Amino acid sequence: MTLLQARGLVRSYGPTPALRGVDLEVAEGEILAVTGPSGCGKSTLLHCLAGILRPDEGEVLYGGQRLGTLSEADRSRLRRTAFGVLFQFGQLVAELSAAENVALPLLLAGKGRREARAAALEWLERLDAADVADARPGEMSGGQQQRCAAARALVTGPKVLFADEPTGALDALAGERLLGQLTRVAHERRTSVVLVTHDASVAAYADREVALRDGAVDPSGLGLDMPTTV
Ligand code: ADP
Ligand code: ADP
Repeated sequence: MTLLQARGLVRSYGPTPALRGVDLEVAEGEILAVTGPSGCGKSTLLHCLAGILRPDEGEVLYGGQRLGTLSEADRSRLRRTAFGVLFQFGQLVAELSAAENVALPLLLAGKGRREARAAALEWLERLDAADVADARPGEMSGGQQQRCAAARALVTGPKVLFADEPTGALDALAGERLLGQLTRVAHERRTSVVLVTHDASVAAYADREVALRDGAVDPSGLGLDMPTTV
């Protein structure tokens, strides 16, 4: 079943077109890699799909509902409840422990402290980061920080996780560990993942790959021309 769909997305920054008419479907529970060289429009596409950036033309549908027809408040609620985001690095609040960081979205959603902490610890455990629950980001390795950021993105139980070069700042081993945990959790919980990467070894974790080139889907499907390190 299609959960997320893009139809004819066009988006420019000033005179520069970043997306030139992208059609895309993401099925429920599917891990989709969006690949292609730097500057081809991957991040712009991800931001449009996640309802963060408004396309100039075309539309994004979530569960058949057009994001553009929702009120700002409803779009914002959808982002908080149905979507999770994981970026390359540095999204954790430096003053808070790992567990407090992961609990934050639940506290903002009105959950009680005890319940939020229990869920945070459970998610840190699931992402193989329980050992750093009481550490602050500055005391954690890059890999630990990203697994913690992943726990925070997933703690609200999103239907779609948007991950933009999530291993971009990690060494190969830490990257494999993060992707292994992420894909396992996504398959277990039927969470769809849109995984943006320029790296073939990262895309290999996905169920399917869509290659972008110059803001359009590359019909040859071969968007990967970069050297491969995770
Ligand atoms: P990718 O994620 O594949 O590297 P992006 O979506 O970031 O590609 O960028 C696509 C194109 O849009 C590039 O030419 C980039 O320079 C341009 N671009 C991206 N963001 C901005 C911005 N905020 N302002 C101006 N140009 C931008
Ligand atoms: P700005 O106008 O500030 O440069 P945008 O034009 O990208 O920024 O608009 C961002 C706003 O567009 C956000 O408030 C977001 O909720 C909204 N938005 C995101 N996706 C869509 C969509 N598919 N249709 C309509 N609005 C959207």
